[in-house]
Amino acid sequence: MLDFVNVEDDLAEEERMIRDTAREFVDERVKPDIGEHFENGTFPTDLITEMGDLGFYAPNLEGYGSPNVSETAYGLLMQELEAGDSGLRSMASVQGALVMYPIHAYGSDEQKEEWLPAMGRGEAIGCFGLTEPEHGSNPSAMETYAEADGDGYVLNGAKTWITNSPISDVAIVWARDRSSEDDPVRGFLVETDRDGVSTNKITEKLSLRASITGEIGLNDVHVPEENVLPGVSGMKGPLSCLTQARYGIAWGAVGAARDCFEEARQYAQDRDQFGGPIGRFQLQQRKLAEMGTQITLAQLLAHRLAELKERGEMRPQHVSMAKRNNVRTARDQSRIAREMLGGNGITTDYSPMRHMANLETVYTYEGTHDIHTLVLGEAFTGLKAYQ
Ligand code: FAD
Repeated sequence: MLDFVNVEDDLAEEERMIRDTAREFVDERVKPDIGEHFENGTFPTDLITEMGDLGFYAPNLEGYGSPNVSETAYGLLMQELEAGDSGLRSMASVQGALVMYPIHAYGSDEQKEEWLPAMGRGEAIGCFGLTEPEHGSNPSAMETYAEADGDGYVLNGAKTWITNSPISDVAIVWARDRSSEDDPVRGFLVETDRDGVSTNKITEKLSLRASITGEIGLNDVHVPEENVLPGVSGMKGPLSCLTQARYGIAWGAVGAARDCFEEARQYAQDRDQFGGPIGRFQLQQRKLAEMGTQITLAQLLAHRLAELKERGEMRPQHVSMAKRNNVRTARDQSRIAREMLGGNGITTDYSPMRHMANLETVYTYEGTHDIHTLVLGEAFTGLKAYQ
């Protein structure tokens, strides 16, 4: 397995154990039929509670059944899951970083008790509703709103591209609170069986097919006051969740890229043309040399990010650089790996084209590549290009 500069030699025992558990899970439970799920546009839902049993949802949180593992351990988990499929890592990212994290950070004691243990076990599923049909890269322009009504709020609006919404028990819906001054964005826990909630599935995807994506329609949905996340107000709420999820993506992309590299390396040794393995040709070696180097650089950036996060020094701009770079690397290198597999490379019998298609989503969600470019532009110049 590619780890060319032996970064993983320095792992602590717990980190090594989590990496190995996730790697074994992916090898045994995911890889055998993930290609079929991708073709059929289904998520292996039987794995949801199994992933919970293995502690794959937000193990970096403290309390409520979460063991508070190191940020490196959490990153390695994302890396191994995405070596299986970006859909699998998306499941863990949404559940852990986008739903459990905000409940843990901003929720009331009752909300934490009600949702965190059940979500950690995968017995309850959550989704994160920020993006709207007309507002993606600029979520602060959201139109979904809440109005005070007796003992709670009434929500109206529409969210789209929401991972897991059709199978979720609860959605964190980010909406403008029209009953407060300046309409601050607030987080509402909306159980999906409430009157007025619809969660249609989006079926036409050519990317992230082994992941369920849907809409959230909110038509006069009443939620009680106790369903509001009390601890946060304003765009800091959703943006802080995105920082957590993007951290996992920066790591996950390394896993997807590594899996492509390993498939291409193996194929180069096995496939004979002109009387011997194609891996003896310099053109193929050049591709592997570049792929191995770029993945190693991405891996190093992910490990450094973990150190900064562990020390409480990680800034959103650091995460932007790592998400932007590592996903671009994975996207570029998956294509080279696909190329090395010739005609076989376009099938689901091999992973690179599936990863390549998935990475189009990963390149776009959680802040597009362009938007992270602008974040870095601002970090380096002090001048904002996206207002
Ligand atoms: P747009 O914002 O319309 O962007 C279109 C293009 O314009 C992009 O190339 C973009 O980079 C570019 N652009 C936009 N603004 C600028 C600018 N200022 N300067 C230069 N270029 C710019 N969202 C959720 O809330 N929850 C989820 O669980 C979730 N899951 C997803 C799952 C999938 C499979 C997908 C595809 C998306 C998901 N998303 C989710 C939504 C995702 O975060 C958005 O698609 C993303 O933020 C981009 O928004 P958009 O699609 O509206 O594109």
